[in-house]
Amino acid sequence: MARQNPIELPISLYIEDIQLKDSIMQLQKRIKPKKKQEGRSHRGKRTVKKEALFGNITISKSVSRALDEMGYTKPTEIQLESIPVLSKGDDVVGKAQTGTGKTTAFGIPLVQSIDPTKQVTQGIILVPTRELASQVSTEIRKLSEFLPIRTIALYGGQSINKQITDLRKTPHIIVGTPGRILDHISRGTIKLNNISFAILDEADQMLDIGFAEDMVKIIGFTPRTRQTALFSATIPRTIKRLISRFLRNPSWIQVGAEIDAADTIKQIYYEVADQDKFKGLSELLSYSSKENKALVFCRTQIGVDRLTKRLRNSRFDAKSIHGGMSQSQRERVIRDYRSGTPRILVATNLAARGLDIPEISYVINYNMPGNIEEYVHRIGRTGRIGNLGTAITFVGEDDFNMMGLLAKRFGENLEKGRLNLYKA
Ligand code: AMP
Repeated sequence: MARQNPIELPISLYIEDIQLKDSIMQLQKRIKPKKKQEGRSHRGKRTVKKEALFGNITISKSVSRALDEMGYTKPTEIQLESIPVLSKGDDVVGKAQTGTGKTTAFGIPLVQSIDPTKQVTQGIILVPTRELASQVSTEIRKLSEFLPIRTIALYGGQSINKQITDLRKTPHIIVGTPGRILDHISRGTIKLNNISFAILDEADQMLDIGFAEDMVKIIGFTPRTRQTALFSATIPRTIKRLISRFLRNPSWIQVGAEIDAADTIKQIYYEVADQDKFKGLSELLSYSSKENKALVFCRTQIGVDRLTKRLRNSRFDAKSIHGGMSQSQRERVIRDYRSGTPRILVATNLAARGLDIPEISYVINYNMPGNIEEYVHRIGRTGRIGNLGTAITFVGEDDFNMMGLLAKRFGENLEKGRLNLYKA
């Protein structure tokens, strides 16, 4: 009997355009401009020269040139909604997952708000992880490629002395993790008294990691007159408190349904006995084509290393990534993975958020995530920006409770699959 490919996807090339058109139409109906003095924010400080168009959003010529170079031809939904509001100088709460284009959504207004002739730090972006700090700073640098704007990424695991040297040339924009930024504030190597724009990215994750106090302290060093934007996939009560404390009359912008997994992700689960998991994984990986990247999640660092070793012994092109590795090792693995080798990355939850690798075709939960939010973040690594992706979850002997929650949450969108190893 010919074996079936259990993870084959119907690929429809025009989905992206139809979805985009729909969302633009919905938006045109939905967005009603707030009554404000024309062209000026309530803080009266935006002086963006309106010279070019990104979709129907007016942006500066230099940013438009940068977007051309980046290959962004039309705005994503979150960009359509956020850029005009932030460009006016208003505060924004953006409820959006990574993969929606949110970095550019706040990046364009931020870059346009900077006065490069002033040699002071004017923008700050707080992010939860080193990976995200490096990714976001790269995106901001690209957006400001044709402007004399300096951006620096500050995160732990990098030499503090090198950062101090780099900081002698005052950056206009700082992107970093709260711990390291606070360290620099206490050394007097950064000053936040001229900040006009502060962004809290993946705020829920920063709270989860335990950065709440640091975040509050850092924002406390910035002027009250600043503009503030907060992006978060979920808005629990603690985030609401943060919003009412630090944001002024913000516009709430939400893309997609709740914390829904994007429509572009096909979700399948397989019931599998613990001792068969490796066989099951090998079966799935051997079906997927050589060009397809897979990201496999395990619960622990030891689990990640063990699985990678077993995969390599079975001649699969796999590498590990987890928090037990040094920053430079992690960066190297991500760089290699981006460029195509290894094809398979085995990871802890460290890679569940922020990691931006558009070509991941499969996310495989080798170990069940601990909760729904974690599941959504993990599977959000695939199906990014209109690409189609598949999320596979192994349901082991101890996972039935969690599986029940997932089934309740995702209903028919979560299909049951059957591994060939269990077929007669
Ligand atoms: P983010 O949600 O910011 O992590 O972005 C997810 C991915 O979308 C990144 O790979 C961006 O480079 C890409 N991206 C952002 N905006 C656009 C756009 N307007 N068109 C195409 N790709 C985009």
